[in-house]
Amino acid sequence: MYFFDPHIHVASRTTDDLELLAKMGCVVVGEPAFWPGFDRSGVNSFYDYFRQLTEWEPKRCAQYRLAHYCWLGVNAKEAERTELAREVIACLPEFLDRPNVLGIGEIGLNKNTKNEVATLERLIDLAAQRNEQMLFHTPHLADKYAGTRMILDLLRGDARVDRSRVCIDHCEEHTIRLALDEGYWAGITLYPTTKATPERAADMVEVYGPERILVNSSADWGPSRPSAVPDFILVMRRRGHPESVIRKLVYDNPLEFFNQSRNFQFTPRA
Ligand SMILES: [Zn+2]
Repeated sequence: MYFFDPHIHVASRTTDDLELLAKMGCVVVGEPAFWPGFDRSGVNSFYDYFRQLTEWEPKRCAQYRLAHYCWLGVNAKEAERTELAREVIACLPEFLDRPNVLGIGEIGLNKNTKNEVATLERLIDLAAQRNEQMLFHTPHLADKYAGTRMILDLLRGDARVDRSRVCIDHCEEHTIRLALDEGYWAGITLYPTTKATPERAADMVEVYGPERILVNSSADWGPSRPSAVPDFILVMRRRGHPESVIRKLVYDNPLEFFNQSRNFQFTPRA
């Protein structure tokens, strides 16, 4: 079955991983701008990273017929330094019209601090001004529920935001309803350790149905795996879900969500 991995950090993965993704049936990858595991020293590091996501990673993926799209922004882990974040946000417009950019992401909260909120407000404002799609990272573990509520409150206060063009990612059992009830797309991340397993994702689909749900690997430089979406497909098949529902979750839904971006030019595979 063809599938999208709508959230994967290709820059952190080897070429062998890309080959494996293609062999498993992946046709499109979405790569949100992320934290490298250490704090960058200045705006130039971000600038080069945005070049990597818009110039180099698409070429690496194209070798395996993987269409590479990306999201650009300041991630929550680096949003605390508001002055640096302001400089980075100032250089975003230069990149947002590049042909593989879907919108602004992944942005959001990590520890739910005042400075993170200040940076996030600037990013949401830029997205709203430019009519960009948005992809939100929600915090980890104990901070997730409060952080998700804070993000949704911020968005609710901005009449310019079109909820059908926003994904609230890394949803878990206690937050997915918040995103879906307010009309957003909900991302479920399949991680071997934290976030959700393929089994828990299947449980959530069984409770909430397949509408506006995206599943992704968020594979990065830590413990995570590019086979996460195929693992989910297998769990769904073993539970007897029809192929049409599985295909909707891993192919039709991300296609519909990505299609709302002016730069998305993918020709669907039969
Ligand atoms: Zn991510």
